[in-house]
Amino acid sequence: MSAILVRFLRQRLFFLMLMLTLTLMSPHVIYAADEKKAADVSATSLATLLGASLEYDPLTRIGTFTKNGQSARFGADIPYVLLDWNIVKSVPAPYEGQETVLVKKEFADTLKDFYAPKTNLSTKYSVKAIVIDPGHGGKDPGAIGEFEGFKLQEKDVNLAIAHRLTDLLRIRYPERTILLTRTGDTYPSLEDRVDMANNIKLGATDAVIYISIHSNASFNKNTRGYEVWYLNPNYRRTVVDEKTAEEKGHDIAPIINTMLEEEFTTESVILAQKVYQRLGTMIGDKSPERGIRAEEWFVVRNAKMPSILIEVGFVTNKEEAQLLTQSPYLRRIADAIYNGVCDFIEHFEQ
Ligand SMILES: [Zn+2]
Repeated sequence: MSAILVRFLRQRLFFLMLMLTLTLMSPHVIYAADEKKAADVSATSLATLLGASLEYDPLTRIGTFTKNGQSARFGADIPYVLLDWNIVKSVPAPYEGQETVLVKKEFADTLKDFYAPKTNLSTKYSVKAIVIDPGHGGKDPGAIGEFEGFKLQEKDVNLAIAHRLTDLLRIRYPERTILLTRTGDTYPSLEDRVDMANNIKLGATDAVIYISIHSNASFNKNTRGYEVWYLNPNYRRTVVDEKTAEEKGHDIAPIINTMLEEEFTTESVILAQKVYQRLGTMIGDKSPERGIRAEEWFVVRNAKMPSILIEVGFVTNKEEAQLLTQSPYLRRIADAIYNGVCDFIEHFEQ
């Protein structure tokens, strides 16, 4: 069963429980159960008061308030709340009561401030940079297809698509940083590529998207088709760096990482879906779809950003290899990725 499905089912289960809780309990019952905690309110009541929606997962004991795209993430017995995925505030830890999660007045006040109408700047996220990574290069040719009359190296296919994609994105988004991890037949190490992405200076609401372009190989010469990969959500990434950990205190870094991780995975899945859909439109008549997949590769594992890896086709299948030698076909692939990225940015910045 896929991780997304598990998460979906878990959320469903949670909503059922929430509705049961709402039906069976009134705030009076909660207060009567513990006189001393009369000042504490249930997270559900707080959500109603704020006009926010609330999700709480009893398994991870982590919950999220959401209103107008602004999120506040908290955990039972964790004395911090994570606002909009980047601001950490100390709060009295919410705790699980008999039937619901309870929060103290200071916690409620923090959220009231956070959701109060802002007079100045909005806290909307924007994509500041796009990193395009043509896989392999130089001494590393990647997959190789050898046929009568022609030979095809993955590194060349990846680079041609990456150049076209970069050109298109630079025209569409002149104000954003569009980076190529290599512009010629060179071999930056995987660490170099990830560092390039991680070293982009970001403001609090800036995001970077990372797109790795590859071509596939198989011992089975009949295998062909395109696929898009995103990071396996079960992999615990370190998305909070050392400096932030130092500032906020080492003990909370793992908590913030857990909270952030889920959001980055969600965005990666959406980016993967958008690109995959566009590939279907652009090359679906020539190449079969092989699905969206989750994996833990190094290239995106250390990247603090929504990231995907695209396998554009098999250089080991003669028909597909022939297509991959033709500029018009490579342009169609680049156009598909470009359209998918634009779709994603529109969604992300809405
Ligand atoms: Zn590759």
